Amino acid sequence: MPKSKYLVTGAGGFIGHHLVKELSRQGHWVRGVDIKYPEFGETDANEFLLLDLRRWENCLQAAEGVDQVFALAADMGGMGFISHHHGQILHNNLLINTHTLEAARLQGVRRYFYTSSACVYPEYLQSEAYIKPLKEEDVYPAQPQDAYGWEKLISEHLCRHYGEEYEIQTRIVRFHNIFGPLGTWDGGREKVPAALCRKIAYAKLTGKPDIEIWGDGEQTRSFCYIDDCISGILKLMQSDYSQPLNLGQDRMVTINELADIISEIAGLKIEKKHVPGPQGVRGRNSDNTLLKKVLNWEPQISLEQGLETTYRWIESQVEALIKADGESN
Ligand code: NAD
Repeated sequence: MPKSKYLVTGAGGFIGHHLVKELSRQGHWVRGVDIKYPEFGETDANEFLLLDLRRWENCLQAAEGVDQVFALAADMGGMGFISHHHGQILHNNLLINTHTLEAARLQGVRRYFYTSSACVYPEYLQSEAYIKPLKEEDVYPAQPQDAYGWEKLISEHLCRHYGEEYEIQTRIVRFHNIFGPLGTWDGGREKVPAALCRKIAYAKLTGKPDIEIWGDGEQTRSFCYIDDCISGILKLMQSDYSQPLNLGQDRMVTINELADIISEIAGLKIEKKHVPGPQGVRGRNSDNTLLKKVLNWEPQISLEQGLETTYRWIESQVEALIKADGESN
């Protein structure tokens, strides 16, 4: 990639932190912006500003003097979070995305990357565990399950119209469950791979093999490892494709199967306890036909490989926490 000045919003978060690392490794100048610093290690950004991007003047400051923007900031989390905070999520994310895009346009940003989600797809196509993989065009007639998905869909539109009507070029990705090390694994915003890794690590380290799983565990998803996600983001940003594009794996597994893969990596036989809890849609998978056509590429890292690295990292985090708790008691 030719050297550029980049803004990464949400640079204190999971994907943003990894993206900053990669841009910086490639020799670009990077400004990271977030309301918090990365939790798991120093940022590699040349400049890191703590700014609340719901506020217009902060967005203008964030976008000043950069050529390209990766817009990742969002108030988000796993099902436990997004199924209980509709008003907050819709309000905050609409402000963040509307202001960030307009500020980028006014500051003369050349290219803008918006991170949408598989949560834009209609609930009625995802009511069974073994569904047809979702193609980009399946999004209409629209019926996303949560406010989180509605906001993503509106902001996709905003990006498309800005791209058509103004000088700024826009790129739009729809992520399908990205996971990996250095992501939230505790506290209520974590997503299912991280939550299961944590529960299994606790089970292993405390000798209590019971693992709680929300619902019957037969709901299905596909999961994409962070390194593939970063490769896909950079390829799409450099492409001339301006319509929304899926970025995920197309191997669908049940949550029970996901737990089994992690328990095998941990070397622990677990007892699954199925408990009530938010489950999201019943089934979801990515159709990667368009992804392969547009980028001539698809995610390469297997679920087992990605989970191996992720589990090891989360186990070390849990171990450190147990040790610290033991020392403070
Ligand atoms: P994350 O929660 O780790 O990162 C988002 C970051 O945005 C956080 O660090 C948060 O502090 C920051 N943020 C929130 N409100 C802000 C504000 N007002 N001003 C500035 N920063 C603010 O999430 P992530 O997994 O890294 O996701 C990055 C993007 O990708 C998000 O837009 C998310 O919706 C989208 N996405 C992620 C996934 C996934 O599986 N991780 C799936 C679909 C879409």
